[in-house]
Amino acid sequence: MQKRLLSITWLLAVLVSTFTAVSSLSAANASNVLKLGDVDGNGTVNVADITVLINYLKTPSTVNIISAAADAYHDGEVNASDEAAIANIIMSGTPDKSANSILFFTEPTVKKAFGTAFANTIVRAGSTGAITYSASPASVATVNATTGEVTCVGAGQATVTATLAASGKFKGATAQYELNVAPVIMASAVTSSHIGQVICNNGHIHATVSDATDAGCTASAMIAYVGNLNNAGGNGAYSDNFNHGLAIALTDVSNTIGEEGSSKMQLSNAYISAGAYTRARSATYTSAWFLPSVYQWERILIGCGGTTSYTDKPSNDMLFSYGNFHTMMTGCGGTDVQPNAYWSSTQFETYNEWYYNFGFKRIYWGSKTNDFYVRAVLAF
Ligand SMILES: [Zn+2]
Repeated sequence: MQKRLLSITWLLAVLVSTFTAVSSLSAANASNVLKLGDVDGNGTVNVADITVLINYLKTPSTVNIISAAADAYHDGEVNASDEAAIANIIMSGTPDKSANSILFFTEPTVKKAFGTAFANTIVRAGSTGAITYSASPASVATVNATTGEVTCVGAGQATVTATLAASGKFKGATAQYELNVAPVIMASAVTSSHIGQVICNNGHIHATVSDATDAGCTASAMIAYVGNLNNAGGNGAYSDNFNHGLAIALTDVSNTIGEEGSSKMQLSNAYISAGAYTRARSATYTSAWFLPSVYQWERILIGCGGTTSYTDKPSNDMLFSYGNFHTMMTGCGGTDVQPNAYWSSTQFETYNEWYYNFGFKRIYWGSKTNDFYVRAVLAF
């Protein structure tokens, strides 16, 4: 009887001490079960825990962590080695005793044009060993083994690989990305399939303004007509060297000074402003900027899918529809024209000049002192 009383007292004592021990565990861990890697103590181990750890390692005093959970590498301190160990818990459910490293490229696929050079940003954690780069095939891309800078030497697809060497307790790692190198087409190889694409300051043709920028080129104008125009229609405003087609500027011209922008002006200023248009162009592959004649406006609109009643000379109120001009101009990255009147360089008679109206889709003649918009063109 005494023995039984004693054992009940003992059991009570054990229960009380157990309760005391449980209630003194971390209040942040509601389940009272420490999860290795649960740095923020919310009961789950996920990518957020690595983020909390990274922030803690940057400024320890301002970020709260569960230190015992954060020390996933079990080396007695919370440091950079725990990132890789926690990553392994997320991926495989177990801490990483062999300490994997993390290595990946920021952009998994990259589009560039032939001839360009660039470097894809790489992210690393774990090993502090050297990273070496390689690219294959060498006919498409070559790479600086140390810096990772890639030069696109041919059109096609290549794989760029980074190899991180093992260092200390950390294993090595590899990362790859796909590189697609677009061919460069010169203006001299233009076909009608390039209408709506852009011609650049170096004579390249690219699909859009942003493609040109990615390739390190500056887009000059949208290709709007492909064909030989030498003196056709009696309005040849450019040299016989340029017989591939016409390209129209990506923006309107501002009054008199040739800057990009939109403003109306009299005909005398239209000639000056168009000729002084400031957008970069190729001196080798294109003519200078000039004001298009009625016939050149007609060819541009026909090139963009429009229809006209033009045969050999203009007449007042003649149909000049513009087809897909608006969607092509904005689609390639240009600024759309106004639904309004644009000067041509074709004279009607001493005081009057022909102009094209995008609002009415027709040509008219009117006083040279009218204020109309100006869009310069290039022959190439
Ligand atoms: Zn280019």
